[in-house]
Amino acid sequence: AKEAGRNTFAFFEDKMEEAILLRRTMEGDLRNALENEELQLHFQPQARSDTRSIVGFEALLRWNHPEKGLIAPNNFIPVAEESGLIIPIGRWVLNEACAQASQWPERYRVGVNLSPVQFCDEYLIQEVEGALARSGLTPERLELEITESVLIHDDRRALNTLRQLKELGITIALDDFGTGYSSLSYLRRFPFDRLKIDRSFVSGVTQTPELAAIIRAVIDLGQALGMEVIAEGVETEPELELLRNESCDEVQGYLIGRPQIMDGETAKHVSNANL
Ligand code: C2E
Ligand code: CA
Ligand code: CA
Ligand code: CA
Repeated sequence: AKEAGRNTFAFFEDKMEEAILLRRTMEGDLRNALENEELQLHFQPQARSDTRSIVGFEALLRWNHPEKGLIAPNNFIPVAEESGLIIPIGRWVLNEACAQASQWPERYRVGVNLSPVQFCDEYLIQEVEGALARSGLTPERLELEITESVLIHDDRRALNTLRQLKELGITIALDDFGTGYSSLSYLRRFPFDRLKIDRSFVSGVTQTPELAAIIRAVIDLGQALGMEVIAEGVETEPELELLRNESCDEVQGYLIGRPQIMDGETAKHVSNANL
């Protein structure tokens, strides 16, 4: 039994070494990805829930790895955050998203996800200002998406950062709402423009009265505090209908459109006719 235990341990040790090695390899590859232009942005439409007219697009990062193909962000952003690579990568995302959006019709805004690491970076305000200036995008068309986790570390600093961002004229969305652990009190203190209801509350909402109750309460809460509310992960007509009936302002999800590569022409042709 002792022998078996040792073997099991050796097995886990091997697995661990393998995992560390994989991580290092990925970190190295990711370092080159920027220079080799392997990163790309896909854009997913966001629409008014009543008219279904498209109001903007969220930029979603993809890594086109030379051997592994297209890699989803959840599989490499943690490595980017731990290694600090998220700073140059995030800078690229911001600049690329603004540059592309500046070619779209003016009625479309662009949403950009910010990592908590970026949010705490002392150069964030400068980076955002720079991306706007270089692209010529009007600030009102840029929306940054942040998660609750950035608010729990240093309240005053976070509030200060948010205020400075707002002074640039951009909007802020609170992403993945309902999945974090912080209290609701920050909703009153922080200047969010939009509340994004997480997909975990939306999928299954039509079969689950409890989820419907949560969604209803979140929409009321957000709107009572002067925010617009958008639901993510809307995949079916009944889900859209429920959200529309609850006066959810906007929706995003496969029902409206999948994340896709976009150029100016595509943006122009995105209209209700395509839905
Ligand atoms: P998120 O911000 O919550 O983005 C929504 C995710 O849900 C996206 O996954 C999107 O493709 C997916 N999605 C959208 N509609 C539907 C639907 O109807 N059904 C289902 N099942 N899924 C849907 P994706 O693109 O894999 O991104 C995952 C996460 O990676 C994002 O979650 C975001 O937190 C992060 N991320 C993506 N791009 C960036 C980026 O440029 N910077 C940072 N820091 N994080 C990013
Ligand atoms: Ca997001
Ligand atoms: Ca989410
Ligand atoms: Ca997220």
